[in-house]
Amino acid sequence: MSKHVALTWLLIITLTICLLSGCQRKVHTTSRTDEVLGTIVSATVNGSMDEATLSSALDAAFLKAFELENIFSAHTLDSELAKVNESAYAAPVRISDALYTVLELSLYYAELSDGAFDPTLFDLIKLWGIGTEDAAIPDAKRLKNYVNRHNYKNVILDKSNQTVAFTNNEFSLDLGAIAKGYVADEMKRVLEEEYNIESAMLNLGGDIVTIGNKTDGSSWNIGIANPNNPTSSIASIEISNQTIVTSGNYERFFEEDGVLYHHILDGSTGYPANNGLIGTTIITDAAVIADALSTATYVSGLEASMALIESLDNVEAIFITNEGEILMTSGITEKVNILDSE
Ligand code: AMP
Ligand code: MG
Repeated sequence: MSKHVALTWLLIITLTICLLSGCQRKVHTTSRTDEVLGTIVSATVNGSMDEATLSSALDAAFLKAFELENIFSAHTLDSELAKVNESAYAAPVRISDALYTVLELSLYYAELSDGAFDPTLFDLIKLWGIGTEDAAIPDAKRLKNYVNRHNYKNVILDKSNQTVAFTNNEFSLDLGAIAKGYVADEMKRVLEEEYNIESAMLNLGGDIVTIGNKTDGSSWNIGIANPNNPTSSIASIEISNQTIVTSGNYERFFEEDGVLYHHILDGSTGYPANNGLIGTTIITDAAVIADALSTATYVSGLEASMALIESLDNVEAIFITNEGEILMTSGITEKVNILDSE
């Protein structure tokens, strides 16, 4: 027997023993849940590294999320955003990389959606107080006054100095419709770049970010909540390494005289958006984009939103109408499974 043949046999025998004894690397799984930006965030990571390393990866991802919470929370008085709201009219304010990036994206998606997504609605949002104990229908006159004050075009960014300035002091910023997506992307980046995680799922109050596939190599199967019965899924969708972000009327709301008042406001009327959609889901690679677009499409309504999403590369959407009809963009139909849902 030649040396070459002997080596080949040795290799075959080794591989066979390996397969029979299950000598593949054992996969561990670790999870953590915490509250960030008023949302329950849970993360599960899988990997062949030991559990202590997986835990450290999760800790680093959550640390990043808490750091960003200190930047983006409009309601916390000492957040970076609160300081901008306080002083960007008086003089340009130099801001962090993270805040600059999110503000730049916010203005981009505000323009793209013709103001449906508008980061300058904070005063109107506070007036309604939806999601707080003080939530109530505002006085119509007062509301009308607020409607004329916001306009994303009054936010001026200066890239070379990395500053933000307001052209008047009649509005303030709220990034609640986009910041969670940015946080999700950053958590994913920490897991991938700093810890080489190749399989994970992050759930930020129903907004899902995945890394790679499940440990058995198959895609993640994600349920989309039925807005009329949010504990059950109206559809499920297969994704790998992508993100799914939903805006829905069931997330934060109060009811009065049988009318549901939810947290996604239509800046043109000052009232909760009521343009025919009760749930909008965006599927793409970056959660920050999905988050901005989920809110924008909710406000814009079916026709404009279908056209907008079809015009964007590598972005898909699922829309649920007031009547419970499910419509989706052309690129996603094969990955969506409509479920029986009451
Ligand atoms: P989302 O759940 O991503 O659709 O974001 C909703 C949150 O974004 C609300 O709780 C508000 O803080 C803020 N918001 C409400 N309406 C708008 C809007 N039209 N454009 C931008 N942000 C909004
Ligand atoms: Mg959003």
